[in-house]
Amino acid sequence: MRLGVIADRLVLIDGETAVDLEQAGNGRFPAEPAQLFDDWGALAGWAATVEPDGPRLSLDQLQNPVPAPRQVFGVGANYRDHLAEASGRTVEDLEQFLPEDPLIFTKFRSCLAGPADVIPLPSRNVDWEVELVVVMGRHAERVSEKDAWRHVAGLTVGQDISERVLQMAGPAPQFSMGKSFPAFGPMGPVLVTPDELHDPDDLELGCTLNGRVMQKGRTSGLIFSVAELIARISAVCPMLPGDVIFTGTPAGVGAFRKPPVFLKPGDTLTSWVKGIGELRNPVVAGHGYPETGEGATS
Ligand code: ZN
Repeated sequence: MRLGVIADRLVLIDGETAVDLEQAGNGRFPAEPAQLFDDWGALAGWAATVEPDGPRLSLDQLQNPVPAPRQVFGVGANYRDHLAEASGRTVEDLEQFLPEDPLIFTKFRSCLAGPADVIPLPSRNVDWEVELVVVMGRHAERVSEKDAWRHVAGLTVGQDISERVLQMAGPAPQFSMGKSFPAFGPMGPVLVTPDELHDPDDLELGCTLNGRVMQKGRTSGLIFSVAELIARISAVCPMLPGDVIFTGTPAGVGAFRKPPVFLKPGDTLTSWVKGIGELRNPVVAGHGYPETGEGATS
């Protein structure tokens, strides 16, 4: 099953078009995105058997499929190749330095955005991080790794946009603030249930900046897998239906390039996970972006 949101209403994706979920289900399922997980089990069962019927909607208007999660979890340094670039080590040298615990933070919910939304830059130090985003379907509290996937509703594509100076500013790094400016969390274009994917633990993902490939990896390269993340997080925080996890990014972010590359007004950032879809976010100068002098747009 592939689900999305168009005009703030839930839709069921059927090939190259979509149908309104509430209409297709004759009122049995909600229109309101925040209610998507209220009867998730019944919806999944129904969608597997039904031929969706109703007026066809264009996929051009897709919005964030999960616009109002109650909790947003982020994971830092969760791919070997990214940890290697961030720590200045080779992937081969890394084994003895692999973390025993995942680095968890939050992206505050007001930063979430849609698959085609504009990203306003607050500074010249804004970087990209393509990520697989996990969406929880069931309440998960102290679940085991073995049981973890049963609590997942589906997967989507995310960008963990990051202001690198604020991320490291203060007495200790504060990832949550540096990663939570408006539109720093584009998601979409659709929510895909795991059964639609050949191997949900091994998905190709990547991003391009103005058509140039900047990141390309596979989720099989995660240090802490989706199941292990759910086990680790739910051991502390009960996870609620609709909660999302930004699972981490592979190598190729801008900050560790020589010289570093950061987003600038006029850029287009395209992010994809094979089998799920693509985000395409234009970048503009936002409030606080320097207009002249040091750090000005050329
Ligand atoms: Zn990230």
